[in-house]
Amino acid sequence: MQQDDLLVKIEKAALVGRGGAAFPVHLKWQRMKDLENPKKYVVCNASEGEIGVQKDFYILQNFSEEVFKGMLLAMDFLETKEGYLYINKDYYQKLQSKIDPLLELFKQKGYLINIFVEEPSYIGGETGSLLNAIEGKKTQPRFESPSPSVLGIFGCPVLLHNVETFYDVARVATDKFEKTRFSTILGVQKEGVYRVNSDDKIAEVLRKTKNYPDFDFFVQVGGGASGEIFTKSQAEEASISGCGSIEIYKSEITSYQFLNKIFNFYEKESCGKCTPCRDGSWQLKKLLENLDLNSEMPWSKIKPIIKVMEKNSFCGLGKSIALPVRSYAKNILGIEI
Ligand code: SF4
Repeated sequence: MQQDDLLVKIEKAALVGRGGAAFPVHLKWQRMKDLENPKKYVVCNASEGEIGVQKDFYILQNFSEEVFKGMLLAMDFLETKEGYLYINKDYYQKLQSKIDPLLELFKQKGYLINIFVEEPSYIGGETGSLLNAIEGKKTQPRFESPSPSVLGIFGCPVLLHNVETFYDVARVATDKFEKTRFSTILGVQKEGVYRVNSDDKIAEVLRKTKNYPDFDFFVQVGGGASGEIFTKSQAEEASISGCGSIEIYKSEITSYQFLNKIFNFYEKESCGKCTPCRDGSWQLKKLLENLDLNSEMPWSKIKPIIKVMEKNSFCGLGKSIALPVRSYAKNILGIEI
């Protein structure tokens, strides 16, 4: 296929990155192509460190050839022969027998896709952290400027997508692309990864996958613990677009149980580089330490910490805590924080 034809197809399909930012893929590719650097890399992010989210694992397990085809198409487009598969250690252990022979085959055809295995963590999948890790540096975020993709690894630009995006590129190239995406559905009897229509409402997805609960519930939609909270009735109207997971919670879950889960996640995953996130997440966890299941939550203390983390954290992890906590307080408890 002519490279320009592929770009037109990707644009017509309105393909956006599946890593969360939803940036148009054709713009990213064109921008990378326009850079005059003699060497460029293509990197696939198979880190997936969000709690319970398994969609990239599912795609690699079932459609690894398509994922690598998407990578090879990107390599041809950028006229480069080298790339990386940056993969969660648990995933690699389970999929090595599938992945290694494919990469060997590509090597014989002149494409070198290096494997970089990392310990599973949320921050390991953040762009700057991932690029630092490949370079052998500490797995921590970078400054946003210059763009981590322009000064990607070893002084060269990097075209970075996650597993699902490369899979979609291959589908577009072979005219099999549909407006669907993968989502991990949690908190139900049939937990698992499902292919869902991108434009469907949350409740619609639950019904179509036969996961609509027969109990009162609320849902968290997005990237695991950082997702937004919706009530059962809001789930009828809110779209799932951009989501990697849908988690169902029984309505009787207490505020302590919910916040404890969220605060533990942030405290565990904070990389410690910046004070707002490092100290904020630690303080939030501490606030719950001497409380029990049915305690009133100390919202007047939680609120300022969340605000500082949202405004002053260095990367998206610390900033993102505001979404689950505020939407839970507002939609489930009816309080503004
Ligand atoms: S926000 Fe958290 S994860 Fe991000 S750099 Fe700061 S401490 Fe690290």
